[in-house]
Amino acid sequence: MSLKKSILEKSGSYKFYKNNYERLLKENQELSNLIEQYKKVYPPKECPICGYKGIGFKPYVNIIHREVECPQCKSHERHRALWLYFHEKKELLKEGNTFLHFAPETQFNELFRNSGMEYHPVDISDENTLINEIVDIQDIPYPDDYFDLIYCSNVLEHVEDDAKAMNELYRVLKPGGTALILVPINGISYERPYDKSKTFESDKYNTPELREKYYGQNDHLRLYGTDFKDKLINTGFKIKADDYIKNLGHEIIDKYALIKDENIFECTK
Ligand SMILES: [Zn+2]
Repeated sequence: MSLKKSILEKSGSYKFYKNNYERLLKENQELSNLIEQYKKVYPPKECPICGYKGIGFKPYVNIIHREVECPQCKSHERHRALWLYFHEKKELLKEGNTFLHFAPETQFNELFRNSGMEYHPVDISDENTLINEIVDIQDIPYPDDYFDLIYCSNVLEHVEDDAKAMNELYRVLKPGGTALILVPINGISYERPYDKSKTFESDKYNTPELREKYYGQNDHLRLYGTDFKDKLINTGFKIKADDYIKNLGHEIIDKYALIKDENIFECTK
């Protein structure tokens, strides 16, 4: 049995473990020894968003990476990476600037709403209670060159006409503005046996079961390859950088359980 499994068996659920950490260590010498051994091999994981510290994050169905979800705030790797990114690049959240945010995530709600920006959290339906308005990314109801900042993470793989959506993102971005665009990419988020340099999609895969099987999630309409970057460039975007996470270095990547190869495409026009 793995060290980690023994620890969890001795300490119960993540929640119980977290809430009773000190007491468990005092009362259970065996558990305490196991944790000391574990820490030598694997330093504790931390969530920069909610402050969780513990032996690990939770795995997530279908996703390659084993350390995905924070047991406390439910953040995934990309949220933790973006959290670090937005705190490092505070100039992006400039008071008075216009900001379009697709599919807003709870982890960023306070940060963005308190930024003093003209903030537009939007989504395709009002199922997401954090939105201010319903917006179809394929037909964005804002004028050309309107937004200083666009943040669109893990949305395009759900959209019927993603080329149209990318054109719309490009159209509403101000020249010199920043669009942060993220999608799951084959070999990084999911692992499927296709040519990883090409986006895989077909009209044949039109049921939740087939989509889960071929794309990794039952509501995804494709699985992007590394050609996603070319799609952005062909839309007209200039890519300023896509290696923010890699450049954080392995200690930070390990501590916050980030995915080294996950790209934050920092686009401008
Ligand atoms: Zn957290």
